[in-house]
This record gives sequence, structure tokens and C-alpha cells, in this order.
Amino acid sequence: MFNPSVVKALRSLDDWHFEVLRVLEEKMRHYETVPTDVVARETEASKDLTLKRLSTLHRYGLVWAPRGRERGFVLNYNGLDAIALRSVVNRGILVSIGGRIGAGKESEVYEAVTAEEERVAVKFYRMGSRSFKKYKRHRDIALHSHLYMEASRLAAKRELEALQILYPRGIKVPRPIYRNRHLLVTELIRGIELAKVKAVDDPALLLEKVLRNLVEAFRAGVVNCDLSAYNVIYLPESGDVFLIDWPQWVSPDHATAKFYLRRDIDNVLEFFERRLHHRPNKDIMREILGENVY
Ligand code: ADP
Ligand code: MN
Repeated sequence: MFNPSVVKALRSLDDWHFEVLRVLEEKMRHYETVPTDVVARETEASKDLTLKRLSTLHRYGLVWAPRGRERGFVLNYNGLDAIALRSVVNRGILVSIGGRIGAGKESEVYEAVTAEEERVAVKFYRMGSRSFKKYKRHRDIALHSHLYMEASRLAAKRELEALQILYPRGIKVPRPIYRNRHLLVTELIRGIELAKVKAVDDPALLLEKVLRNLVEAFRAGVVNCDLSAYNVIYLPESGDVFLIDWPQWVSPDHATAKFYLRRDIDNVLEFFERRLHHRPNKDIMREILGENVY
């Protein structure tokens, strides 16, 4: 289930609390911790009322005061989730959020339902959140938390860009739906990570599908740079594959694009050999990938 505290906050907090969160989001760019006075001024409220609102937000776990309340507050990822989710709900994009379907180094993915009753995937970027947990009260993290959140926002934006290039060209990636801040809504792929697959009927065909998608993505101007069996979703019934996880993509003009493409391909080949005991011969590789890639 999605963080109950954030869900509860969305249900019970009023517009003013969200206004306070938005002020923190904005002012964190300029303040290490945002003083209560600044929040009061920006929301045109008294200091007492502002402190009360901040205490409520603190109780819900959406903000923290890494250097004591007197020094002010910053948003944490719960707070950022709350404003982003509220935006997608207010815009009529999502109506509810459900269980977690995946997690990686820098993200969490949840299932959600749209206003059109489509079940979708929502990826929340969480850059740096591991270090948040590790050094909970550490001053340096407060100094950097807005940079991490900015990086998360940028990653979501970059991933959306890649999907917007790839999806319309028929490359097998989740259909992009919407982005808000560090949150990205896409089509839900009902399959399993290839890394968890033990055996398939036709490994040669499966490998060919993965590689053809990679080559087409390259031709469309996108190199994944982080491809592995964890970022390939396999649908056992249809035998289809989807390539996911694109925030770190580069364009083929990038100085080391070819190197990254080779590395992506090698990761895939390594998995097929080790797990599925399949190694393609050179001619087939050349036929799929073309002379200039392999
Ligand atoms: P990370 O960068 O954290 O690895 P991913 O985009 O790979 O992020 O997502 C983490 C996991 O969530 C994936 O390995 C996959 O299991 C699941 N997942 C991500 N996107 C989708 C999607 N559109 N449909 C279904 N599952 C998904
Ligand atoms: Mn991944």
C-alpha cells in the first residue's frame, strides 16, 4: 500500500496546508531550511497559524526540521509525494493509488487507477533517499535534499522525453501518460522482470525481440544506458517484451553513445547466456544489429 500517512494527509489536510508545502518546495532552493517567518509571509498568514500548520505537516511526516523547529523546515519525499499526487488527482488524471509493484535503486513504482478506469504504473523517483534514511538528522542532507529532489524531477522529465520519442515509433516501451514533479505515470505492463525468468520456449526469438527494440531505439535517437534483465519486462503469454527505465538515456551523437549501446547489448547477451543458455552466432547478431553497431 502507498504510504498511509501521505494518503491520510491527502484526505484530511486543507488547501492551506498544501500551500505551505508548495512554499517549502519553492523556497528550499534558496534556504537550507525555510524559516517559519518566510512561510508565514508567503502564505499571508500569522506566524502562530503557520507554526500550527507546520506542526500538523510534521505530525503527518511530510516535512522535517533537521536543525530544530526554530531554524525552519524542509519538505521530505512524503511531502513532495503529497503535492505531486494532489496535482494528478486535481487534474483528473488519477483517482486512486494502490500497492507497490516495483522498487529499484532510485525509485518506487505503484499501481494506480485513472479517471478512465485504466490501471497504470506510477513511478516515484527517490534520488538520494537512501542517504536520507541513513543520516536522518544530518545537516549535510538538509543542505542537499532540494538537490536530490531536483534530480528526481529531472529524471522523471528525462524518462518521459525518452518514452515520448520511442512509444510513437512502435518501440516496445510503456505508453507515457503524464508527469508531475518526480512522478511519472505510464501504462502498466503486466509481466515479469526478465531477470526473474528461469526458462523460455524460444530464447533466440526473445533475444531478437530485445535487440531489435534496442536498435530501433538507437535509430530513433535514444540509447538506454542502463539496460539489463531487470529493465526488460517479459509477458509469458504473448512472448512480448517491454524495455523500461529510461531516465539516463543519451542521444546517439553523445561521445560515448556507442559504448553505452554495446554495454546494454552485452548485459542482455550475458543474461541470455548465463540463464537461458543461449548464445547467438555472429552472423545473426550482425543481421539484427547492423555492421556499424556490432
Ligand atoms: P529503477 O530505476 O528504480 O530500477 P524501474 O523503472 O526499473 O526503476 O522500475 C522498478 C521496477 O518497477 C521494475 O523493475 C518493474 O518491476 C516495475 N515497473 C516499472 N515500470 C513498470 C510498468 N510500467 N509496468 C509494470 N511494472 C513496472
Ligand atoms: Mn530498473
